Amino acid sequence: MKTKIGIIGLGLIGGSLLKKLREYEEFELFAVSGNEKTQKTLKKWGITVSSSLETVKLCKVVFVCSPISKTPEMLDKLENIVSPSAIVSDVASVKEFVGKKKRPYKLIGGHPMAGTEKQGFENSFKELFEGAKWVVCPFHNYTKKDVELLKSIIEKTGARPIEADAKKHDYAVSLISHMPLLISQAIFKSAKDNDLALLLASSGFRDMTRLACSNLEMAKDMVKYNKLNIEKAFDEFATSLNLLTEDYKNQIEEIKEQREKMYSKEGKNIL
Ligand code: NAP
Repeated sequence: MKTKIGIIGLGLIGGSLLKKLREYEEFELFAVSGNEKTQKTLKKWGITVSSSLETVKLCKVVFVCSPISKTPEMLDKLENIVSPSAIVSDVASVKEFVGKKKRPYKLIGGHPMAGTEKQGFENSFKELFEGAKWVVCPFHNYTKKDVELLKSIIEKTGARPIEADAKKHDYAVSLISHMPLLISQAIFKSAKDNDLALLLASSGFRDMTRLACSNLEMAKDMVKYNKLNIEKAFDEFATSLNLLTEDYKNQIEEIKEQREKMYSKEGKNIL
């Protein structure tokens, strides 16, 4: 029998997930989208789709791929829709707040560590998760078998599931994603009124400010929902800056050596 999988919110993440999972015969997909163009495409592909959450009623696994701020609302609504044996997994970039409330279904949070600065179904693509990590945070009512099932679906996307505690996840992503986003925006802001600086800016400035072009709704949500961890990350940043100025030569040698070992020639994190 096919595993029924629901996907709610067909944007960059939900769309990419659907485009990859539809390659597998073993899954039957059910989608919830408010976008008529997306609905039309999915119907052409033979996928059950509507704007009603009822569409995922009979699913064994439901992925909630809504914006961060809309995720709790979706999880609330699903309480009256899915069965207690259903596994619900969100993809929000901040995790601890998602698991705060007990649910009548099995709640296992998730966070795919993949994305682009674009959004929407039209920018989604099935290779998005290839070689990426996908964090899994078991929250409520789950069994080991449920976690294994979710991980096996994640693996079908080409991602590697990494089980982690939500609190630790939120601090870790503040260091590698949310604080860098703010720094990238601040670097751009510092130079933006200097015409000569902007004229001379080349690849270094481009790379350092790439995150300033991120999905703005998501950026605002990340900064809002992970505020305390981001503040902690900036404390760590200030400490690092002090250490750098105290012992510059040794510190930068150590940093360069470790950074060089972390990524492959193709730019993939090989840890
Ligand atoms: P996105 O491209 O903007 O897609 C979000 C989708 O959610 C929209 O396409 C829409 O789906 C639906 N949606 C929009 N407004 C809504 C509302 N008010 N209420 C309910 N649903 C709404 O964003 P995304 O990048 O896929 O992000 C979705 C989630 O993935 C977020 O929680 C984000 O934190 C997480 N995430 C993003 C990245 C990244 O780099 N982009 C990486 C990892 C995790 P329909 O058009 O089908 O209705």
